[in-house]
Amino acid sequence: MRKASGRAGERARGRQGSGHGRPPRDEAAVVSPARPLALSASFVGSFPDPLVRLEPALPEVALIGRSNVGKSTLLNALTGRPGLARVSATPGKTTLLNAFRLPGFYLVDLPGYGYARAGKAARASYRRLVDRYLLERSTLAGVVWLLDVRHQPSKGDLEMQDLLVRSGRPVLVALTKGDKLTRSAQLARPREIAAALGLQEDQLQLTSSTTRVGIDDLAESILAAVGGTG
Ligand code: GDP
Repeated sequence: MRKASGRAGERARGRQGSGHGRPPRDEAAVVSPARPLALSASFVGSFPDPLVRLEPALPEVALIGRSNVGKSTLLNALTGRPGLARVSATPGKTTLLNAFRLPGFYLVDLPGYGYARAGKAARASYRRLVDRYLLERSTLAGVVWLLDVRHQPSKGDLEMQDLLVRSGRPVLVALTKGDKLTRSAQLARPREIAAALGLQEDQLQLTSSTTRVGIDDLAESILAAVGGTG
């Protein structure tokens, strides 16, 4: 996890250090450095098959987290398109992948885990979808794993960490809802969560979809993971 998480982050940090860096190749003239993902994001579709072929074949970054962690809201904030991902009224109901096309890559929204009222069958079909997607998908370049900054990682979060480690994918940890903390807690909580997960603090990105804190840094790391700065 640690090595995997560090890779994209290091590249992103290197990029920040040298000015705006290079935008993704196929949109070089028009990507705004201030809002790197806020460009031609469009919904591709919802898919029950974890190995569905997307056309054209492009690298993917997946978003995953517990239901209600703020995943849809983060996706909207990252793409600058309010309403692109529906902010869920009924968490945990979906067992579909939702794919969004961005310049040169896809963002894939995986269904949230840990929905308290999900039955045994729903949990089993969730595992089938997400395990296969994370373990077998050849186009998967990295995963953004969302954790609510206010809470200690749950049992479901720790199970997800195991799966992510097994998958060997580069992982960026995005801490959500940073605006709900005081300034001092914004400094303390990432350290505590990093310790609980056995990670370094600089492997976690504090974000808030409300104030946009950390959103552009996260976007830069995603672009680095799909080779946008290469
Ligand atoms: P999902 O189930 O992971 O897709 O979570 P949603 O995006 O639907 O968000 C769950 C709830 O958290 C909604 O009421 C959002 O408005 C709220 N939320 C999400 N992100 C933030 C944030 O950064 N700050 C605050 N204050 N609320 C947030």
